[in-house]
Amino acid sequence: VTRPHTAEVADGVFAYIQPEGGWCVSNAGILLGGSSVTLVDSAATEARARALRSAVAELTPVAPGVVVNTHHHGDHTFGNGVAAPGATVIGHALTRSEMVEKGFGLRAVWPGVDWGETPLVPPDVTFTGGLTLHVGDRPVELIHVGPAHTTNDVVAWLPADGVLFAGDVLMPGCTPFILMGSLAGSLRAVERLRALGAHTIVCGHGPVCGPEVFDDCEEYLRWIGEIAADAYARGLDPLTAARGAELGPYAKLRDSERLVANLHRACAELAGRPPGAHLPSAPVFAEMVAYHGGQPLTCLA
Ligand SMILES: [Zn+2]
Repeated sequence: VTRPHTAEVADGVFAYIQPEGGWCVSNAGILLGGSSVTLVDSAATEARARALRSAVAELTPVAPGVVVNTHHHGDHTFGNGVAAPGATVIGHALTRSEMVEKGFGLRAVWPGVDWGETPLVPPDVTFTGGLTLHVGDRPVELIHVGPAHTTNDVVAWLPADGVLFAGDVLMPGCTPFILMGSLAGSLRAVERLRALGAHTIVCGHGPVCGPEVFDDCEEYLRWIGEIAADAYARGLDPLTAARGAELGPYAKLRDSERLVANLHRACAELAGRPPGAHLPSAPVFAEMVAYHGGQPLTCLA
């Protein structure tokens, strides 16, 4: 397992990158504001959240007072109370309700992971459209761009620095995952994010990247749309369609079994389900395992 590292992407703004970015191995942001410190997301396990806390301590004696969650998934939120004990957690209203409803359910997908002990700390401060934080004298615009990866995706845009924390709407080197969000919404979100004009993008998984990530993500999403339209027209179920699809350039993306889940969402939208409508995830995870040759999905959390 490759160790996490911290990279300064603007003055006092750090990306906390956890290689290699697969299932539940997520990135975070550390924003230094002089007398205050804000985190963007935490981590999945107690050990990873403690390591994030140590990485902050290497940068500043100030403890994080605020955590922004980019969405409800446990790899971004389970560590809130360990990486930043007592901090105010800010997130979308649906991030809070999803966390409260789902609890630690994600852990059941990977019972072999050493999750450790983490308190569930959903956002105390919630919003819906957007919110501006001021970290020191740096404005940080929190913008709801979902439904995309989930219903409640929030990005953190630092306009003065040209830096975007994109959450899981963008994941360079990894297969996008829209089961809990929307295909049409993801395409709209990519357009909105592209229009911000960021030059440095810290995504929820994968390395720090530049604006090329917009084209890469959009290309994959359009390909999903084509496969889904063909499957829908021929009456194929998503798993059968996935098995018949040639991955081509996408074979090199991590966690390619997400194709099955992405086709479930795309086909649901073709059938008229609204963006972000609830789809039961357990049977879809079972189909991803089937697509993955019956092997458990790789999780290095
Ligand atoms: Zn996620």
